[in-house]
Amino acid sequence: MKTPAPDPESWSNRSPGDLSLELPVVHRSDVCASVAASAGAAAAWGRLPLEGRIELLAAARSHIEVLQEDLARGISLETGKPIREARGELGAVIAKFDLTFADARAHLADLPVAGGPHPALVRRRPRGPAAVIAPFNFPLHLGHGAALAHLVAGNPVLFKPSPLAATVAGRYAEAMASALPRGVFTLVQGGAATGRALSLDPAVRSVCFTGGAAAGRALLAGAADDLGKEIALELGGKNSLILCADGDLRAAAVATAEGMCLTAGQRCNATSRVLVEREVSPRFVELLLEALRPFVPGNPLSESTRLGPLISAAAAGRHRELCSRPSPDWILKGRADGEADGLRGHYVTPGVLRLGPDTPGPDRNELLGTETFCPILTLEEWDSEAEAIELNNSTPFGLTCSIFTRSEARFLRIAAEVKDGNVYANLPTTFSPSTLPFGGWGSSGNRRPGGRGFIRFVTEEQAVQAARDGFSPAPSGAAPKP
Ligand code: NAD
Repeated sequence: MKTPAPDPESWSNRSPGDLSLELPVVHRSDVCASVAASAGAAAAWGRLPLEGRIELLAAARSHIEVLQEDLARGISLETGKPIREARGELGAVIAKFDLTFADARAHLADLPVAGGPHPALVRRRPRGPAAVIAPFNFPLHLGHGAALAHLVAGNPVLFKPSPLAATVAGRYAEAMASALPRGVFTLVQGGAATGRALSLDPAVRSVCFTGGAAAGRALLAGAADDLGKEIALELGGKNSLILCADGDLRAAAVATAEGMCLTAGQRCNATSRVLVEREVSPRFVELLLEALRPFVPGNPLSESTRLGPLISAAAAGRHRELCSRPSPDWILKGRADGEADGLRGHYVTPGVLRLGPDTPGPDRNELLGTETFCPILTLEEWDSEAEAIELNNSTPFGLTCSIFTRSEARFLRIAAEVKDGNVYANLPTTFSPSTLPFGGWGSSGNRRPGGRGFIRFVTEEQAVQAARDGFSPAPSGAAPKP
């Protein structure tokens, strides 16, 4: 197992949309002290009745609401996400409070069990400190959703943001922590080595990791000796839009362009493959090129920008390397210009590459087996539904898949065969609302921490029964010490 390189003591990010802008210095946190504070808060937080925890978390929501626009601008500045998208992220952060409270009320109550030999119930006990490790691309929303589920269920949270979004995440964490008792929400700044140390700490009883598959695998392997530790993984995707000849070609082209360019393609549910029924492929390509026209790189803080920069020089370098590969099959060759709106930044343009039987095996395997995480799309053609399904299922990932067809029967037939956690009809692969569970199969993860219902995985179940007639197990609310 690869050990991550040690993290720097302190660092400061530059805005990927304007490299002349340097953000404040961030200092790495002390993992041992953070875990000790969290462990110290666990018993009291776990014993607080559910409605008491909800009341405090509702106060945290008010703090975030006050900062809503500032945090959206902070995301845009630090990660390059277009401001309109960043505002959408903050909207999701706020909406997540009520959704999580509703899930908690539905799932956390003691469940009496009738029909057994004795009076009995199933109780859900908090596990104790939970590490929430977040990625850069949704620096608040994804970690926040996982954190809320843990908090409302009685687990204190150690929130480790991506070092690439440390400043904005720090402001969010401060707002959350200020509404909660000391140690209930603890910010842990640092990089991969800090995330690893945090997740391996024996006092941390569950880990929710959102990030790349390599780190997810390392984390799972590292925690293998601690049998009681729960590891929830929200990893990457290689998401297809499957276009059938009877589908709305224009709508499919618009959804493909949007799915590949939102957050500059740096979304786990980005459309990175389009699988087109051969007879409509030429017309679809024309429509796709038209739909991509508005996605011109621009300053992420500008209201009209729909394609912001990539997060880092390394990400832009990978885009440049992919686009410089010689192939007669480029439909649209992307560029990494490094400049837009008069600003120096990690700006790139979209690329579309046809993959066919003549595409060299190594290129094909690399393109389909890894996330490109930039606005590059591969296009493949098919002649039968079975072939479309086989193509879709040929990657190790299984996150989202969109099927464009006017036939409900055809949609349901294909949907029943694709190996993805989320299947949509006539919608972009990126259209994943917080009202639904969200998560992947295969190398895309487990436990669905990214969406509705993650609360099911954040507690330990305890079966309680009592032998004597008339002796009923303790009622809800008197939860024993975690
Ligand atoms: P990343 O894996 O580089 O880092 C994610 C987080 O994990 C960061 O906080 C990082 O510091 C930490 N980390 C890295 N290595 C670690 C290790 N060995 N142990 C513990 N922590 C470690 O990912 P990223 O570049 O920030 O985000 C992009 C990735 O996240 C993509 O693969 C994307 O698909 C995935 N992602 C998935 C979802 C989803 O819902 N499935 C959502 C968003 C992002």
